[in-house]
Amino acid sequence: MKELDFGKKTDYNIELARIVDSVKKLRNLKAGKYTLWNEAAEWHMKYSNLRGVSSLTLTITLSPTGCDWARQGGCTMCGEFEGAFKKNDLLHNPQFHIAQFVSAVSNPKVWETSKSENKSISWIRINQEGNYTNPHEMNIEAQDKILQLAIRLKGVKRVTIESRPQYLSEKVVSHLAEIFRDSNVELEIGMGLEAENDVIRNICINKQGTKQQFIDTVNLLKRYNILPLAYIILKPPFLTEQEAIDEAVATAHFAAKIGFSRISFEPMSIHQYTLVDLLKETGDYSPPWLWSVIEVAKRCSDISSIFGIGGVGYYPIPSEYTHNFCTEKKDCNKRIIEAIKKYNTSRSISVFKNIDCSCKGYWLQECLKEDCALKDRINRQLDNVDRIIDNYSPAPIPINSLVRRQRIIAGNSQ
Ligand code: SF4
Ligand SMILES: [Zn+2]
Repeated sequence: MKELDFGKKTDYNIELARIVDSVKKLRNLKAGKYTLWNEAAEWHMKYSNLRGVSSLTLTITLSPTGCDWARQGGCTMCGEFEGAFKKNDLLHNPQFHIAQFVSAVSNPKVWETSKSENKSISWIRINQEGNYTNPHEMNIEAQDKILQLAIRLKGVKRVTIESRPQYLSEKVVSHLAEIFRDSNVELEIGMGLEAENDVIRNICINKQGTKQQFIDTVNLLKRYNILPLAYIILKPPFLTEQEAIDEAVATAHFAAKIGFSRISFEPMSIHQYTLVDLLKETGDYSPPWLWSVIEVAKRCSDISSIFGIGGVGYYPIPSEYTHNFCTEKKDCNKRIIEAIKKYNTSRSISVFKNIDCSCKGYWLQECLKEDCALKDRINRQLDNVDRIIDNYSPAPIPINSLVRRQRIIAGNSQ
């Protein structure tokens, strides 16, 4: 594997300023989304691999109030701000998020599904597309109450929330651990590690933060018996297909090495009002091929027990997901998605063995493409962005993907 060396983060100060300028501009174009108090922004059910057992999982997205980091520009691929309610005054009232959580877990469709599947809901994943433990995004009383309610639901074995390490001080972590102490329910906290390489994480993605922060937070969570989950992205902007594959493989192994107990590998999807969407418009970006997803999974087979493939359950709905740019066989993408679901259950890369299609040759050609030095490439692509940003108008989301707001998925995820 070619070692990725893009220099130091500080070599890119000018490029970073340009990137932040663009993402801020895009965030300001969208006023935000109105969502009801008594309904979560979205919920869905699916089967997930919980310690090797396929388990019924309820994922709830509480209406985001707007990630603090996104307010300052935020990550180049993240469209959460577009779907955020952005009303800070709601934070003073804990009932806002509590009511949404209760409405999702008490929805008759949820319990009818549990009954018809003859399984209890074992896993509750709570997203609000930001940082659960940041009091500027979620009222502290709501944070506690929702977790207290979640662990009391019959059959629940694990609850997952998300936060950047910046909001996981020892005080916060010990308090969370106390809530779960006598419950027999595991708490898992997902963190967006995204990329091991400092330049890719901090410049291409604009995630900011150090690797040491992740190392320290993983150790802290483990000390309090909380499971650390890493989100890893496939194909951040400005990278070639091959660089993206190599980076994802290196990041997954780094995450395993520093002690993450689970990895959710997220092939990039395209979200409106993001820099990635603009780069797609200029022709400088396309989402990763599904062959790349398989390639990364194969090269991570040594850590497959903790390596799951996600990237399909986003809020708001993306305009494009990872796919093969295939004109040869109509069901090429479908077959691979089905194989990925099987992989998530079995964690065996043998599910990819008999999958083939002539478009694989085009993917291999794509992997051979090289580009100039990263710095030059970023500037060239941002010049293209500057030419269209003032007239940016995102492509409409396909109508049939908008029905995901409340749905039961008969599939397996990571
Ligand atoms: S990816 Fe997470 S940290 Fe980054 S802008 Fe989105 S919600 Fe905020
Ligand atoms: Zn194909």
